[in-house]
Amino acid sequence: MPHSLDWLDDALTDLDNRGLRRQLSVNARQGHASQIEVAGQALVNFGSNDYLGLASDPRIAAAVQSAIDSQGWGAGASPLVTGRSDFHAKLERGLAEFEGAEASLLFPTGYATNVGTITALAGKGDAVYSDELNHASIIDGCRLSGAEIHVYPYSIGCESRASDLDKLANFLSDGRHFRRRLIITESIFSMRGTLAPLTELANLAREYDAMLMVDEAHATGVFGKHGRGICEQLGVETLVDVRIATLSKALGSHGGFAAGSQKLIDWLANRARPYFFSTAAPAATAAAGLAALKIVREEAQRRERLQERIKSFRALLERSKRLGKTLLATTTSQIVPIVVGDPVRAVAAAAELRSLGFFVPAIRPPSVPAGQSLLRVSLTCLHTDEQLEGLVAALETTLR
Ligand SMILES: *Cc1c(COP(=O)(O)O)cnc(C)c1O
Repeated sequence: MPHSLDWLDDALTDLDNRGLRRQLSVNARQGHASQIEVAGQALVNFGSNDYLGLASDPRIAAAVQSAIDSQGWGAGASPLVTGRSDFHAKLERGLAEFEGAEASLLFPTGYATNVGTITALAGKGDAVYSDELNHASIIDGCRLSGAEIHVYPYSIGCESRASDLDKLANFLSDGRHFRRRLIITESIFSMRGTLAPLTELANLAREYDAMLMVDEAHATGVFGKHGRGICEQLGVETLVDVRIATLSKALGSHGGFAAGSQKLIDWLANRARPYFFSTAAPAATAAAGLAALKIVREEAQRRERLQERIKSFRALLERSKRLGKTLLATTTSQIVPIVVGDPVRAVAAAAELRSLGFFVPAIRPPSVPAGQSLLRVSLTCLHTDEQLEGLVAALETTLR
């Protein structure tokens, strides 16, 4: 064996020493979203993005089965060659209709959607403006685009005053010489659960003639009267140029998509490299998306129930002397971050929670900035009162 990879021994040991090494685990689902089996131990699952409990919905499984029966499995080629089936086309039309947009385009994943969209919209001579808490797929898209990157400070949410966006306004006002400019934000920050100030961002985009791209990965299906996300909830949909979402979180399926005007989608289909340099997802995956979309449109009670779960969790926190103060302020959505700081402490806390019967992931760099390791609780519409009460009691023990 050659020794050219020997440096990895030291590199992996270094990750270990800093509490940053990940171990692969094998997880088995037990029926639905709120239960999981990790290494043989049955746990209440507070680590899933399956917010509406759709990942194990039998209607989606049946749609997949039937698509496999008629189409087989593999798509065989890029969507621009022969990989795009009737299921893909129907899902793209369905998603556009759902989003109230002219058109949409399916990507293999949400990650590929962000990388593909950003690199298609911005390049050398352009500028991108990215929230410091944006997801890795946005960061990677910005880096790969070759555009000049301006990272603006994390905005603390809808309640934030305009002054929080002063830095972004300064960047924009100093950047009038760029050919094109693109502001990018998540609508709900994936690791913090807070909402971005979309109204203010839309105003800035208009004032400075910049494009605005919003990633609704954790909001699609969850927020807004029709489940379209925070853009719908805040009434800014028509002010946003590109909306990004994933089918793999609240929709319980797989794949990402961009929605917007027809000319935008035409451009992405021609210029977003992750779109056409990857084989299309199987037709059956698109069939899953179609079935999930139908459920999201018809069963508003799922997102209503999730909102009610968020309220119940807040009420439990209010009653907890130990957790109330720190956690209530940060619990605004189904994602509840419990910032611990040190990665080793976060991992130890997650292990203690597991011993008490609860799976809550420890989130460490590079998923969060250094010094901000956290426990990330995600609530789903399937969590029972008893499970929420149990978690709060376990957190009280663990975070002594
Ligand atoms: C999960 C996530 C993605 C990636 O979506 P996948 O479909 O899982 O690849 C993109 N953006 C944000 C904000 C996310 O949280």
